[in-house]
Amino acid sequence: MIPKNFIQDLLNRLDIVDVVERYVPLKKAGANFVACCPFHNEKSPSFTVSQTKQFYHCFGCGAHGTAIGFVMEHAGLGYVDAIEELARGVGLEVPHERQAAGDAQREYAQKIAPDLYEVMQTATHYYREQLKLSQRAIDYLKQRGLSGEIAAKFGIGYAPDGWQNLAAAFPDYQDATLNETGLVITTDEAKRYDRFRDRIMFPIINVRGQVIGFGGRVLDKGEPKYLNSPETPLFEKGRELYGLYQAQKAIRARQQVLVVEGYMDVVALAQHGVEYAVATLGTATTPYHIQKLLRLTEHIVFSFDGDKAGQKAAWRALENALPYLQDGKRISFLFLPVEHDPDSFIRESGRDVFEQRVLEAMPLSSYLLREVGAELDLRTQEGRNQLLQRAKPLLTAIAAPATALLLRKEVAALSGVSQAELEALYEIKPVARAPRSAFQKAGRAPPSAHRLLLQCLIEQPALGQQMPSDWHGQGSDAEAVLAVLMVLRETDFTLNSPTLTQLFQGTAHEKTLAMAEADMLNWGSDFDVSAEFTGLIGKFNEGLRRQKFQALQAKGLSNLTEPEREQFLLLLQRG
Ligand SMILES: [Zn+2]
Repeated sequence: MIPKNFIQDLLNRLDIVDVVERYVPLKKAGANFVACCPFHNEKSPSFTVSQTKQFYHCFGCGAHGTAIGFVMEHAGLGYVDAIEELARGVGLEVPHERQAAGDAQREYAQKIAPDLYEVMQTATHYYREQLKLSQRAIDYLKQRGLSGEIAAKFGIGYAPDGWQNLAAAFPDYQDATLNETGLVITTDEAKRYDRFRDRIMFPIINVRGQVIGFGGRVLDKGEPKYLNSPETPLFEKGRELYGLYQAQKAIRARQQVLVVEGYMDVVALAQHGVEYAVATLGTATTPYHIQKLLRLTEHIVFSFDGDKAGQKAAWRALENALPYLQDGKRISFLFLPVEHDPDSFIRESGRDVFEQRVLEAMPLSSYLLREVGAELDLRTQEGRNQLLQRAKPLLTAIAAPATALLLRKEVAALSGVSQAELEALYEIKPVARAPRSAFQKAGRAPPSAHRLLLQCLIEQPALGQQMPSDWHGQGSDAEAVLAVLMVLRETDFTLNSPTLTQLFQGTAHEKTLAMAEADMLNWGSDFDVSAEFTGLIGKFNEGLRRQKFQALQAKGLSNLTEPEREQFLLLLQRG
């Protein structure tokens, strides 16, 4: 293990701008530097490097980290190798601390050490080797029409039947990382077994090419048909899209992405030459997915199964897309015949027919109007009234001005009212300029109290010394606050923020920290960190006082002990 203070020394001697510039030319933009992101395809730069904060962040794909993290991701080096490479450049020798034997320390090292990606890589390799050995699995893929080339492109493998096959791939089957990556299931009695058994394995790869999870499909009958990795520090379902890594180039070339429901659809489409498809992973299409795809391309086409569940998924996608629509970008819906999914449809009809269908996909506005008007008799006043009610939440959710305006005109015409009447009914006011806070000026919602506290600690770690010892909270930001405090206490509050970022890379809190830090790029130079911090702690203490007071009050004055009575009166006086 490399000592934390060495990481700090190294980061202090490096300038992230120099490190990134060795690989990617940067342009100055305000206080920061920007470039087109080296980790995903894009035309306008959303990759940002902050010299003052010494981290990089991509607003397109979420890539985030320090100089060390950048070299790891860009040069594909492991943690230790990246540190050695950078240390060489500034003439430092990397000391290696021998692992102390204590349980707590070992647990801590496992939490912090960024080796989860390596574990996934080993598993991917193992499953792929097993596929070569299983004629039954090979026959299954062949029967689905998949070639060896496509199987290799998507890294498809096979998890054999049996309970502890992964013991052959990992020297220590009890290692905590197998549990953290979701490869094994640990029972209440601390027994372990492989999560994926007798399944075709589809590695889920992030835009940086790292395996972060798996989807497993049964070969014959069996439940569940599809099984995904659980949420882990590496894998967050609502943020990932299956096949995006492989499809990036084709999406850019076509300026179009096709969103389907399953990984078999993605692979089958690629087999037939439709290489711009991605799939959600056992979740509905989230707002995050939509934002991510709209940054990549001009046109999103959703194609869900023809059945009822598919229709429902399509409508959910529409609802989630409305707030993120951009004038000039297109979203369409491809409806397949009821008995088909994209996989079965392209196998039966071929690429040309399928792509013709993609071309003719229904624009979002037509789909919206069709659904709000469905089964209504617009010749009656009741029907037109219902149309107005149904359309209201949808139309008011749209932020894109031209799209919203055109839809309002159409709904107004359909219901026989004027545009002005509809706008009055929907309480759509001419855009008024209210006084705006610093956060609104930047076009962002203010962060929650826990997020802001986390940001204060990142910006000025020494503030951690002033945290009340009984501070607590719920949610990922609060958990990250506590984890940061734990690391800070261990090092007597001597760490600076880039070191903190680095130490949390590859841990459960990495994403939370990345989001908090990305937000901090919008802080103005007049942002007063210690004042914000003092305010937050004041509010927390105030909340505690109120809770104590209410608890004493609930007990009833006559039931209080003498010290409780004194405390009660004291709290009462303070108000
Ligand atoms: Zn990016």
